[in-house]
This record gives sequence, structure tokens and C-alpha cells, in this order.
Amino acid sequence: MKPFLPGSTIGVLGSGQLGRMFAMAARRMGYRVHTLSPETETPAGQVSDVETMAAYEDLDAVRAFARQVDVVTFEFENVQAATVEAIEQLVPVRPAGRVLHVAQQRVREKRFLEKAGVPVALFRAVGSEAEVRQAVAEIGCPAVLKTARFGYDGKGQAVVRDAENAAASWRALGGEECVLEAFVDFECELSVVAARGMDGEFRHYGAVENRHARHILDVTIAPGRFPAEVQSAAAELARAVFEELDVVGVACVEMFLTREGKLVVNELAPRPHNSGHFTCDANITSQFEQQLRAVCGLKLGSTRQVMPAACANLLGDLWSDGEPDWAAACAGAEVKLHLYGKREARLGRKMGHLTALAETPELALEKALAGRAALTDRYAMAGSRGR
Ligand code: AMP
Repeated sequence: MKPFLPGSTIGVLGSGQLGRMFAMAARRMGYRVHTLSPETETPAGQVSDVETMAAYEDLDAVRAFARQVDVVTFEFENVQAATVEAIEQLVPVRPAGRVLHVAQQRVREKRFLEKAGVPVALFRAVGSEAEVRQAVAEIGCPAVLKTARFGYDGKGQAVVRDAENAAASWRALGGEECVLEAFVDFECELSVVAARGMDGEFRHYGAVENRHARHILDVTIAPGRFPAEVQSAAAELARAVFEELDVVGVACVEMFLTREGKLVVNELAPRPHNSGHFTCDANITSQFEQQLRAVCGLKLGSTRQVMPAACANLLGDLWSDGEPDWAAACAGAEVKLHLYGKREARLGRKMGHLTALAETPELALEKALAGRAALTDRYAMAGSRGR
């Protein structure tokens, strides 16, 4: 099949920061970008050629959008199957709707992983209080209860301590289909962002270390400071997932490293991922350019990391005492500022990130954290804010 070359138009479902960074990579290489989402003036729309505001369920609008583009990808995975099917009748969707179908529902995702021989935490699908109690009896506590759909950044989940507590949590989560999974006593969280081309070529960015705060990714350190066997086992798990799912595009496999040194896959994201943002500054090919290459049927670019890096997320919380001090953050000569163009800074909302480059991952981490602290330091100095 002929690749889609510069000058072609790429459609993107979703309009957040992932779509924005994808659009910037695509436009840099001479592609046109159309986005579709239920909002307007969005992070992706601001840097696209055309921004369509329509509900994902509005299939007439979705078809009209598809007719204007050559190929469609997504940055938001909770798009219903009917939308993707409507597009697939007109133009290719990459990764395919099948990938989205598996990754957007935790029960399907866990069953798929289990069948593929990928290690996951012990789990049970639960759809009633009786099933929740039965699952607690089988799995034991502590355990984690998660809604099967629409969970992200720790939303739609609860740690449970006993059957009573699990039943109450299940009701509080809306009494819908959930997964109860064993609590993993992990040493650390890691992820592998990787890409697979139309020709089956697979390239990965290595296993990186992720630290969360309040269930939201806080810092990524790349490369992750793991033994070589953990690095290669993590990459092989990612490869197995990509091949089994026949992914064409970029995806992220999130994992836990247990205290016994075993890898357990937590979840899949069938698109570029927050833990891969460092690639924009530290690697020969960013995860967004890689998504473009894969989706267009081009050869993948080198994933080689040129320098160790650490990426610190900037949440809306940083705006609590006014506009952050951007000049101070940019004072670090090897600190790169990324802002997503979101108009309103809300608590917990991802507004941007800082990537620091250094000779070692430890130094990069120090610089990224110092850069982030500098954003609000003047308030601390003025005595108006404790740190
Ligand atoms: P998730 O929405 O599945 O990505 O979970 C968000 C965060 O909750 C993860 O990054 C972990 O920090 C924590 N978490 C999720 N599942 C488990 C588990 N089974 N055991 C321990 N911690 C978990």
C-alpha cells in the first residue's frame, strides 16, 4: 500500500495535548491536520488546519469529517465503536478500531492480556454486589476496584480492605461493571512507549520510571534505572502486546515492577502517552512523529535517546497563587517548557510539562524538579505560600 505523503490530511479524534503535539509534529512535516471533538478552541484545534466541534456520537458530522481526510488516528480512546466503524467505511483508522475496542474496557483488556500470556494482577469482572463479595473472597485484600470504562488518572477506582468496604465502593462507583484486582505491592511503576509500522516493524523507547502523585503521573525518568534484564523483559512484553493486537501506531504499556522483580502489566493506552513526552526533546524521533510515520505507512524513525531526561508534569494546581514564573523555569538552559494552551487552570488538570536533559537520569530529575519549583518559588519567598 502506498504511504500517505506530506500534503496529505490526517484526521485526529480528540483534541487535548496529545493531539496538539501530534498536530505540531505533522504540520512540521508538511501534513494537514483536522481535529474532531465536542469542544472548540482546544489544545489540538489551536494548532490544526481545521477544528470540527461535534459529538463523537454525531455520525453525520463524523462522516463529513472523515470525507475531508486521508487517514484517521486518535488521541482519546473513549470513542464509541459506531464512530470508528463509520470512519473505517470511508478511510483507514490507525490503530484500528479493534485496538480501541480492547483498550477502552478494562475487562476486555485484562482478558486479552491474559490470553496473550502477558502477566497481569489476579482479577475478576464484577457486575453485582454478590459478585463483588465473591471476588473479594477469591482474591483477598487489599484489592483495587476499578470501573471497566472511562477510568483515568485514578478516577473510577478505590482501594478496598474487606467485602463490606468493597460492596460500598462498588455502589459509590455507580454500581456498574467493574474489575476487582489484587493490590500489587510494587517497587516501582514503569512504562514502555513503542510504535509498530504498517510493515510490522517494532521500535520502542525503553522502559521508563514513572512516579505518581494523587494517582496522576507526576514525573518520568528516562531511561528508567532498571537492570538490563528488566529493561529487555519490559520491551519484550510491549512487543508481544503490539504483535498480538496488531497495532499500527504508537501505544504505551504501563507496568508494575514487583518487589520480587517481576513485571505485571497494568494497562494499555493505544496512543502516545504522558510518559513518552520526554521523547520530544531527548530522542531522535518523538513519539508524535513516530505516530505520524506509523499512521501514514512510512518507515519508523530511530527511537534512540540522545541524552538522559526527566519530565515533570505541570498541573493546574501551580496556578493557585497566580501565573507561574515562566522566566524562572526557562532559566535552566537545558530545561524545555511545553504548555498546552488550556485556557483554564483547574486543580489536577494537565497544563504542560517541563523536560530536563542532563548527563545522568538523576541529574535530569534534579533539574526538572528544580525548574518546576522555580515556577512558584517567588510566592514561597514572599511568605505567602508554604512549600
Ligand atoms: P490505573 O488507572 O489503572 O492506571 O491506575 C492508576 C494508579 O493507581 C496506578 O498508576 C497505580 O499507582 C495505582 N494502581 C492501580 N492498580 C493498582 C494495583 N492493582 N495495585 C496497586 N496499585 C495500583
